[in-house]
Amino acid sequence: MYVPEIEIKNVAKLFTVMLLSDSEQTGYTIMKALEGRLGRRASPGQIYPFLKQLKQYRYVECRRRGAREKQIYRLTPEGRRFVGRLSDRLDGLFEIAIRPKLTACAHCGCEIYKGGYKEKVGSKYVTFCCENCAKSYGTNK
Ligand SMILES: [Zn+2]
Repeated sequence: MYVPEIEIKNVAKLFTVMLLSDSEQTGYTIMKALEGRLGRRASPGQIYPFLKQLKQYRYVECRRRGAREKQIYRLTPEGRRFVGRLSDRLDGLFEIAIRPKLTACAHCGCEIYKGGYKEKVGSKYVTFCCENCAKSYGTNK
């Protein structure tokens, strides 16, 4: 039977699976971490149904601990593969998002994400990754 992949449509869900890939969590520790990281309170209505969904997919397993029977969630091997697929996809997206901003150093060809070192060569400015590359550029011609 084909089971569609869980869709990760918001940062809270993404963050939840990333937290789970670090260590086991309770709904409460996830909400606390979200609050700390995103600066806003996550509602239980966002987190618990998602945890339940992960459990239905067998991406997490759940055990109870302590007097208050807190549920502790942990990724299963299948869940780890899911997180792996997810981060592969995100790497791709990230690549696409930053690609247009990349410039290559005119000397060594390394990719410059931001800034770089510009020097006037002839009549126009050429971008280098660093001052040393700019110096070498002229000399090995
Ligand atoms: Zn360079």
